Amino acid sequence: MSETRHTRLLIIGSGPAGYTAGVYGSRAMLNPILVQGIQPGGQLTITTEVENWPGRKEVQGPDLMVEMEEHARAAGTEIIADHISDLDLSKRPFVAKGDTGTTYTADAVILATGAQAKWLGLPSEEKFKGFGVSACATCDGFFYRGQEVVVVGGGNSAVEEALFLTNFASKVTLIHRRDELRSEKILQERLLKNPKIEPLWFNELVEVYGSENPMGVEGVRTKNVKTGEITDIPCKGVFIAIGHAPSSELVKDTLETHMGGYVVTKPDSTETSIPGVFAAGDLTDYKYRQAVTSAGMGCMAALEAERFLSAEE
Ligand code: FAD
Ligand code: NAP
Repeated sequence: MSETRHTRLLIIGSGPAGYTAGVYGSRAMLNPILVQGIQPGGQLTITTEVENWPGRKEVQGPDLMVEMEEHARAAGTEIIADHISDLDLSKRPFVAKGDTGTTYTADAVILATGAQAKWLGLPSEEKFKGFGVSACATCDGFFYRGQEVVVVGGGNSAVEEALFLTNFASKVTLIHRRDELRSEKILQERLLKNPKIEPLWFNELVEVYGSENPMGVEGVRTKNVKTGEITDIPCKGVFIAIGHAPSSELVKDTLETHMGGYVVTKPDSTETSIPGVFAAGDLTDYKYRQAVTSAGMGCMAALEAERFLSAEE
């Protein structure tokens, strides 16, 4: 059903940034509407243990996000299951179109659309996506009980995915293009101590191969970046964990972006190049990309939106 809803503050995205903006926006009596998008709860819903959320030594990512949603709702945020497919920031009130047919008009907008997994861009990776190639060990690791798998990448995601996969797989090969991991030291230590994990340094994945009928991965081919040597690694699962790209499609032509699509904000602020439009979390943060920093930026965005709207009254 098509309807138009007006709100003082529209929050787009339901990760730590969006829900925190909801809590602060509600407490500032702005009666915010928060549109969740196709991944309610954001990136932490595809991980298991989160061990660096202050106050919780360990919490499951999906549980933490349910708690944040409940907190935002209890504070007074109206949370809507919809996805914004078009955003007009050329005049106020700003206009956002939802896939459900609802149009949202808003005096201020907080963009908290986060980031999405990156892929290598190989045709064979595309061919076997969903048939052995995945970007989410938490979602798909279970299918590889007793089998060999590979993980590509050298950051926190790759190391966590490799460690998680040892719960199921008989062997995990971590393919990394350098011989140094960029993940946290504590994770590196766990990885290097794990007898099921074998790192393959200075290698890039160049091809995924497998069977057509039934579709399934049988191995990967890697190339040594120094010597050019080709190695075949038999495996049933391929997990790509090479980082994330900001979800800035909605605003890439209207807001200033940099560093491959991250929305630019003013120094020490969440203000974007359009007054009344604020950006928080991984959408704008190419540097820290943590749940706690995203939540902090969500708080800043709501406080700044409140000041912006009060100054107008
Ligand atoms: P996200 O969590 O990316 O959420 C973005 C939201 O925007 C989603 O709800 C999505 O549905 C919504 N959205 C996108 N486009 C639209 C649209 N057009 N319309 C409406 N909604 C839209 N960080 C830590 O601090 N500790 C960890 O242990 C940790 N583990 C991680 C494990 C994994 C596997 C991954 C991938 C990340 C991990 N991170 C961790 C990083 C952390 O998840 C992110 O920094 C954080 O989730 C970013 O929050 P965000 O609110 O900016 O966006
Ligand atoms: P990341 O830190 O950007 O690491 C990406 C890794 O993939 C790097 O090792 C990079 O290699 C490699 N890579 C990138 N492009 C590649 C390509 N085309 N081919 C081969 N390898 C490639 O990404 P991330 O690990 O997803 O982490 C993203 C953010 O979320 C980080 O800020 C991270 O701290 C956070 N996060 C935190 C936790 C946690 O706190 N426990 C868990 C997960 C994620 P190089 O090293 O050579 O560049």
